[in-house]
Amino acid sequence: MRNIRVLLMIVALLVLAGGAYFWATAMVDGFYAFRSPLKDNPPAPGDTLYDPPVRRVVYVMVDGLRVDTALNEEVMPNLNALRRQGAWAEMRSRPPSYSAPSYSVLLTGAWPDLSDGPAFNLEYEDLHVLSQDQIFSAAHRAGLNTAISAYYWLEKMVPQDSVDASFYTAGEDHATDVELVNAALEWIRQDDYQFIFVLLMQVDTAGHYEGGPRDPRWNEAAGRVDSLLGEIMAELDLNHDTVLVTSDHGHIDRGGHGGHELVVLTEPFILAGAAVKPGDYGQIQMVDVAPTIAALLGTNKPASSQGQARVEMLDLGVERERLLVEQSFQQQAGLYENYATAMGFTPGAGIYAESDVLSLAAAGSYAEAMQAIYLVRLHDERTARLTLPLIFFTPLIFLVVYMLANRRVLFGWMAAGLAVYHLVFHLVYAVIGGRTYSWSSVASAGDIVTFGALAALVSLLVGWVVYAWGMGLLKREPVEAAEGTFFLAFGIIYILSIPVMLSYILNGPWAAWALPEPVSYFRSFLSLVQVLFVSAFGLLFAGLAALAVSLQRRRLVQKRTTTGTEPEG
Ligand SMILES: [Zn+2]
Repeated sequence: MRNIRVLLMIVALLVLAGGAYFWATAMVDGFYAFRSPLKDNPPAPGDTLYDPPVRRVVYVMVDGLRVDTALNEEVMPNLNALRRQGAWAEMRSRPPSYSAPSYSVLLTGAWPDLSDGPAFNLEYEDLHVLSQDQIFSAAHRAGLNTAISAYYWLEKMVPQDSVDASFYTAGEDHATDVELVNAALEWIRQDDYQFIFVLLMQVDTAGHYEGGPRDPRWNEAAGRVDSLLGEIMAELDLNHDTVLVTSDHGHIDRGGHGGHELVVLTEPFILAGAAVKPGDYGQIQMVDVAPTIAALLGTNKPASSQGQARVEMLDLGVERERLLVEQSFQQQAGLYENYATAMGFTPGAGIYAESDVLSLAAAGSYAEAMQAIYLVRLHDERTARLTLPLIFFTPLIFLVVYMLANRRVLFGWMAAGLAVYHLVFHLVYAVIGGRTYSWSSVASAGDIVTFGALAALVSLLVGWVVYAWGMGLLKREPVEAAEGTFFLAFGIIYILSIPVMLSYILNGPWAAWALPEPVSYFRSFLSLVQVLFVSAFGLLFAGLAALAVSLQRRRLVQKRTTTGTEPEG
């Protein structure tokens, strides 16, 4: 009977380990495969609005540049000179704060769930072309010449028939940035291009591979980028040209991004030159960048944009502003129509029977109407997902009651073992490892799995020692030593399942039509990594405990036998 129980527990732990592995993988894959609900029916772009009020717009994106570094006069003197004579704002973005989703937001003006950019940093061969209207296509339709000098991901993401001149590279260092700037300088001198986009990489590289923003090499990289910016400025005449400088995301102090920390979701925005009203404009949204560029170039507002042209920063004149307002209203209506269709919105029927989507749309509050469609569906699915966690956690109540009634001691030491495991894990993770509870601290799949395995091993070992000592596990039968260890592993896994179930309710098993809520999604992922290793190491520890007890007993038996047969001397 007892052997069968132990066998069942072994099988259960193997199933848990396998299940945790597949679930954690599916969570990352869901993120990887995420596409916008608008991908098959992008809203149609409106008409080109007017002749550009400026000669050209040069957009320099400094990958990974933080606001504090951008504001540092000593590190970035050229950028700060530009800031003082231009419009300055702090830009806010939304997770995931990886580069590819941020590029997509900046070029389309749509948030990551609609822009149809990747939600993750995909491999080059897995990148897809942006299905939604973006600033390059808008400029091209307006008859403007566009040029792009950038990291090679953009070769895949931007429709190349909208690009008249291009230079792409897979490099990420200073030498690469020099090449990128040289290509742009050539286009500026040729005077044939009205929209020039340059993406510089070395600050982001310093963030990832040279110790992050606290390392001196970070400021050195930012300083070199500032010099390159000086070279671009020297070729421009700000009476006719407009220059925009932003980054795509920040970096946490240890280096890294992708998560939801404020520091990775805040970026510098500096706009200077022709048609710009200087000043400090407080805070803007990342989705405002593409419509603002469109307003400077006179193109249509990118069709999927959820932002607004920051006309308060621009000197466009009354007529152009009127056209902008008019088209923006039409654009919002078109976006709403396509979104409602893509989301399967049926007025007054099914889950939408009680919703105020139609009245919001009728009032012209299209953004709110879209939000209502999103929230009603999300709420409906979350409610449906409450069942599984309820079924899952109900036996826990009975288990606790049973333990309290029958094995007070077991329960007490079990609680101690569980508390020690979780305390040690978070000590190792957050304090010793210095990691945050977000994707910003995940350098790669290998990194989080290796670190998770190590932290789980150490924590389980310490937790088990406390529990085994308190329970006197090693003084019992081998099978009891193994069984006790299994109980501890199951207890730890049960607690780990709480964040998993919470994320399941909020986000579903993995990212599907909506981007996941980042905090719960990451916590769930981290718990699944632990479940995998607690199951595996739990099996190992149980085997070792049983073996230790057997060996000890055999020695005792041998000793007794030897003492018994010894002739008296
Ligand atoms: Zn980036």
